Amino acid sequence: MELEILGSGTSHGVPVIGCDCAVCASTDERDNRMRASALVRADTGETILIDAGPEFRLQAIRARIRRLDAVLLTHSHADHVHGIDDLRIFSRTKPIPVYAETSCALDVRERFSYVFRDTQEGGGKPHLETIPLVLGGEPGGSELRCAPAEVRIGTVTATPVPVFHGNVPVLGWRIGDTAYLTDCNRIPDSSFRALSGVRNLVIGALRERPHSTHFSFAQAIGAIDRIGPERAWFTHICHDFSHEGIRDWLAKNAPGKKIEPAHDGLRVSVRQ
Ligand SMILES: [Zn+2]
Ligand SMILES: [Zn+2]
Ligand SMILES: [Zn+2]
Repeated sequence: MELEILGSGTSHGVPVIGCDCAVCASTDERDNRMRASALVRADTGETILIDAGPEFRLQAIRARIRRLDAVLLTHSHADHVHGIDDLRIFSRTKPIPVYAETSCALDVRERFSYVFRDTQEGGGKPHLETIPLVLGGEPGGSELRCAPAEVRIGTVTATPVPVFHGNVPVLGWRIGDTAYLTDCNRIPDSSFRALSGVRNLVIGALRERPHSTHFSFAQAIGAIDRIGPERAWFTHICHDFSHEGIRDWLAKNAPGKKIEPAHDGLRVSVRQ
């Protein structure tokens, strides 16, 4: 099984519209960061998308996606769901299940209300079945659980991992030995336990400077140290640093740790 990073950029993407900074002007392909998203391909063929951002169409073409069995959403911010209309190409024969935390599922149904209303045939809209996952525990507390605790897509088991994005509980996802935690600035103790044994970790690390709803580089490293994966990658990265600039920063500030910046097209081998 394999996880492919479809997009490694923050909500603006990189380059940022109208920005002439060195990173936005870079000719290094790895400095082109589409909005954050990932794809899981099982050896048995199942194809699972994590988030459908505004560049989903471009990402699907680039990654040569031929089928889609399910979508796992992290949260409903525009940079994670505004490509949903382009899922329609994959839902011609049957609806695609979309797993999302309850309020995220409601947001999707509101924002894409035409998808869930009866309209005339041939309207060219995606057929989606939202499947809400219920968060329980103390919001703001250290224990936050999701029901159901896991979902099955064919032969693949995916575990929702609740994390905080500012004050808002959102989801990360664990599949086998690999976890994908994008927008996040705090991980409840219960989710640290759910991440135990993870070998590959993709984690949001917006920039070096602190931010109110995203891990900074140093905070992401703190979370990586506590989770203890063999390898980790930063994602949801802004334009403050180039790919090589982050590698240099890591060599200086996290020497010896197996942490790299992710880039669009990065592939990570996953064991269920
Ligand atoms: Zn985001
Ligand atoms: Zn820039
Ligand atoms: Zn967000």
